[in-house]
This record gives sequence, C-alpha cells and structure tokens, in this order.
Amino acid sequence: MNLNTHVMLALAVGSVLFHPMYAVVLVGIGAAIPDLDREYVFTPRKVFSRYQLHRALLHNLFVALGALFFNFYLGVGFLLHIALDFLTSPTDRGVELFFPLGRLVRRYELSLEGAPANTKGFLWYLEDPVSLVYKTADPGLKEYTPTAWRRVYGPFKNGMLIDWAVFYSSLIFLLMYEAYLGNLYGWVTAFLHTAFIRFALLVSGIIIFYGVGEAWRRRIQFTPQVNRNYVLVVVGIALLLIAYQFSKLYLPIHVGGYLYLLGLSACSLSLGLIISFFQIKLRYKRVVM
Ligand SMILES: [Zn+2]
Repeated sequence: MNLNTHVMLALAVGSVLFHPMYAVVLVGIGAAIPDLDREYVFTPRKVFSRYQLHRALLHNLFVALGALFFNFYLGVGFLLHIALDFLTSPTDRGVELFFPLGRLVRRYELSLEGAPANTKGFLWYLEDPVSLVYKTADPGLKEYTPTAWRRVYGPFKNGMLIDWAVFYSSLIFLLMYEAYLGNLYGWVTAFLHTAFIRFALLVSGIIIFYGVGEAWRRRIQFTPQVNRNYVLVVVGIALLLIAYQFSKLYLPIHVGGYLYLLGLSACSLSLGLIISFFQIKLRYKRVVM
C-alpha cells in the first residue's frame, strides 16, 4: 500500500489505543519505516531484484518483533504496516513474513501448471506466479527465475481503490473521532508539535531518505549527468538523522513476567515442528511446507 495509507491508518489506530501524543506519532513512524527497504542508491537495483529484498528485509515477523522489544509503539506501527501489505497482489510482491528463515527452503513441489517440479527434501507447495510478476511488476520487483511461493499475497493492487479507501477512511475516522471527543484542535497542534519539532530529525530523515530514494529509483539513476556521489551524501545524512534520533527511542517492554510464556511458546513450537516433520515424512516420504 502507499506510504500515506500506512501512516494514516497507524495514526488513526494509535489515537484510539494510546494516549500521550508521542506514542501516536511513534506508531505512525513505525508504520513508515518498513518501506525503506528498497533499492535506494546504496543498494543496486540488480541486487534487490535478484534477491527480492523489497517487502522482505523490513516486512517480516522477526524485524517486527525486534521493533516491539526495542520500542513497543514503533513495533505496533511495523505490525500494522505488514498487516496492510498482506492484502496486496503478487505483482506488488505481498509480504515475505518469515524472511530470512523462509529462504532456507528454495524448492517447490508443483509448478503453476500443477506438474511436479521437485520431489525431494523440504519443499514449498507451489511455484511463485513468476510469469505474472515478470510481466506486470515494477522493474525492481521482478523475479527472473522460478521461485518457491513463500510470500503472502492478497487481492488488492497497490495505489488502487482499496489502498486509497483505507487512506481516506482512516483520515475521516480520525477527524470525526477527535471532533467527537472535542479534542480536534488539541490533537492537531499536539501532533504537529510532536511530529515536526520533538521528532523533527527522525521525521525529516525519513522524508529525505524516502523522497530522494524514490527519485533515484524512478529517474535519477537513469540520468547520467547527475553525480551519484551527491545523492549518496544527501541520503547518508538522512540516514544519520534517522539513526541519531532512533537510538534515543530505546524503550523495551518489560518481559520479565512473560518470560515463562515466551519459553513455553518456543518449546511448544519446536516440539510441534518435530512431531509434524516425522508425521508428514512418514506419510508422504517428502516434506511439503
Ligand atoms: Zn510496505
């Protein structure tokens, strides 16, 4: 989905769930960060395309959990972003929820035509719709070789009806919710102050990184007269701004009381995986995910 949609939904949800404005703005910032995993100057397009890193690097469960433990509100923003991108089409490349673990298994049992492709070892069930992706996706998102279907896709196209409907609905909801509470003016002034003064470095860093990065991705990299080093310097400064203010946001949730729950979950998951591995292996002689 579009960046404005992610941020607006996060601000609406954040305003209902959390109260100090700094928490609401952090949910919004958390929802903006995952889309920075694109081919922006530092990382050549070919590398991103070859390894399919967009919607993988910062769109997975592990980075979202890391964000939750680093700062709870940022983590909620990450999760909301991933949940929305879940709904987007194969040509937008959905979300690779288990990156990088999912990359350990590369082969698949069936091609899109239903013909057996591989029959040994660990297998995903289906091949990714490569020809569709190749024909319709952005240049940086195309897969060039048949790949296992390890992403989550939904029915909606980026930038189309549902994307914009989520954006406008969230905006209208937020305005009416705050107006109903009699707090619209207070919300807007607190928001502007928090986003553009308190978190000015972080927010301007993200805007510059994203803005210059998109300009680079779409145009500048094909314009030979622009010196790549200038772009590198600007994007590097933006990254420093982000890193500086980010480092001051460390506010981990207290997991002490929940440690037994985490341990119990890890233990159950491992045992469950081992039992089902033997069950599937014995019954089908191969292990399909
Ligand atoms: Zn995204």
